[in-house]
Amino acid sequence: MPGSFKTEAVVLRSIRFGEADRVLHLYTAARGRIGAIAKGSRKPRSRFGGRLEPFFRLDMVLHEGRGDLSTVTGVHTVNAYASLRASGPALGAAARGCDAVLRLLDSPEPNPAAYNLLCRYLTLLDGEDAAGLRTALAFRLKLALAAGFAPELNACARCGEADGLTAFSGAAGGVVCGACQRDGFEISAEAHRFMLDALGRPLAEAPAADDRALRLAERAITTTLEHHAHVHLRAAA
Ligand SMILES: [Zn+2]
Repeated sequence: MPGSFKTEAVVLRSIRFGEADRVLHLYTAARGRIGAIAKGSRKPRSRFGGRLEPFFRLDMVLHEGRGDLSTVTGVHTVNAYASLRASGPALGAAARGCDAVLRLLDSPEPNPAAYNLLCRYLTLLDGEDAAGLRTALAFRLKLALAAGFAPELNACARCGEADGLTAFSGAAGGVVCGACQRDGFEISAEAHRFMLDALGRPLAEAPAADDRALRLAERAITTTLEHHAHVHLRAAA
């Protein structure tokens, strides 16, 4: 239905288009993932200024026409995340986070949990020392949950057994017991605990774990999303 609408949005990707325009991949609060065109936004005196860059959180007015892309008609900055922009590791983490959102959430349906999680992650990356692997993995786990693909962590994903959960199977979509292990890989108790705690706590309190446990958790998340969401995420750090 053509017409204007307002929404908050995070710029996931910003692509130069034509002489002076930009095409934006946006994750919006009101409509989930959408594409938009910002006409004239690369002209020196554009009223959009420098706001249409990745990781900006914006209040936007968009016009929905007949095509796939909405047209940007108004923009105010909610948060530019200036400190994030000044840090190489934080920029890398934000880029991987936005890439995960792009791959995992491609529908134009509102998903407030996913939108709020993305904003919280950008806020953390804008602060001190939050660019680490454990926070990146906690973000992925919570994003998988928001997208409907969280791994089963409380009982064997094949038989429901609650004890002896020594392996993880991406095909089964969760931890598995010794009897159901077949295509799985061994997972440490610490890696299992990390995933449970990361899902159970706020993003800002991502649990500590040793590097081996974090890598096992990453493999568990990655293989689950490959099998069930059919997306392959880049390395988390
Ligand atoms: Zn089992």
